[in-house]
Amino acid sequence: MPFPPLSAAPGNNMGSITCVVIADRYWGGDAPAQCDICQDKILSEFVDGKTQQGPWANMCRCCHKEHGCGLGTGKGQKYQKQNDGRWLKVGG
Ligand SMILES: [Zn+2]
Repeated sequence: MPFPPLSAAPGNNMGSITCVVIADRYWGGDAPAQCDICQDKILSEFVDGKTQQGPWANMCRCCHKEHGCGLGTGKGQKYQKQNDGRWLKVGG
């Protein structure tokens, strides 16, 4: 059983790799201006997550600690503001 030569494998072009933007790691659109629970201004980070009461909310770090269900799929995602003004997902 002959193997195909490696050079013929599709996509084996190592010279064309460019910096890939992982779009889904960034918050889309405008970040929430304030925490849904304590109404505190959101300045550098927030958590989009499930609360212990059930509904999801945009929370500041303190409220997430007190009312959130942790981080992860189905629980919450944490975003942190970057120098370029975009919100990068840093957890969850
Ligand atoms: Zn809060």
